[in-house]
Amino acid sequence: MKLAVYGKGGIGKSTASCNISIALAKRGKKVLQIGCDPKHDSTFTLTGFLIPTIIDTLQSKDYHYEDVWPEDVIYQGYGNVDCVEAGGPPAGAGCGGYVVGETVKLLKELNAFFEYDIILFDVLGDVVCGGFAAPLNYSDYCIIITDNGFDALFAANRIATSVREKSRVHPLRLAGLIGNRTSKRDLIDKYVEACPMPVLEVLPLIEDIRISRVKGKTLFEMAEGEPSLLYILDFYLNIADQLLSEPEGVVPRELGDRALFTLLSDF
Ligand code: ADP
Ligand code: MG
Repeated sequence: MKLAVYGKGGIGKSTASCNISIALAKRGKKVLQIGCDPKHDSTFTLTGFLIPTIIDTLQSKDYHYEDVWPEDVIYQGYGNVDCVEAGGPPAGAGCGGYVVGETVKLLKELNAFFEYDIILFDVLGDVVCGGFAAPLNYSDYCIIITDNGFDALFAANRIATSVREKSRVHPLRLAGLIGNRTSKRDLIDKYVEACPMPVLEVLPLIEDIRISRVKGKTLFEMAEGEPSLLYILDFYLNIADQLLSEPEGVVPRELGDRALFTLLSDF
């Protein structure tokens, strides 16, 4: 199963991705997480450091794929989750889609792409162009992370548009939204009423999740010997279990921009 996690910048995609990857591994799956954000810190809390990116590695080998070994680019993270960082195109030049394409091509050449039960692509903020929608071409499900605010829901609506677009040529479904860093969900509920899609989970703002980034550890690692954190793992395990049940998901029918502004405004 291939998953693509999208959402506005800083909303908590990588945090959610790492912990969902471990939750899936805990359920017995062989998992690879591929960071596709030029920020290349997707797998930071899994490995505890910034691993070399595929693009940097390819560049250092003059794009001779045959000189790249799996151990050059695939690093084992916490909970047996394997980790890859695609890296980004040079800022202001190049194309994110190209980077993702090269990453998938290399992983196929290394016979790694079909070796996993689950591949999770942790992508990036808004879908600004076809290039960053590229992971959707390889995915069975898209998952969108949002908070209860206008900007993240606006990004979610654009991602929903990309899912609908890609689903015309490829069996892709939107598994649903994950609310993050919010105790309120009134705007999320308003949005899913207007644009029906499942809400898989809503996580509040939790100080220990913020700290996990600083410590370079996932919540699963932090919870070892710290029973007070176990309740947080249940959020991620619940998401993993829903995904493993291969939910029907939806092909979303996004809202027009003006309709969205009106829906989420109070006047
Ligand atoms: P993204 O990958 O979407 O850019 P990150 O996963 O890197 O975002 O998260 C950004 C910051 O928000 C990190 O410092 C992370 O620890 C923090 N964070 C994410 N989810 C939560 C949460 N539910 N509660 C508190 N802090 C969170
Ligand atoms: Mg990230």
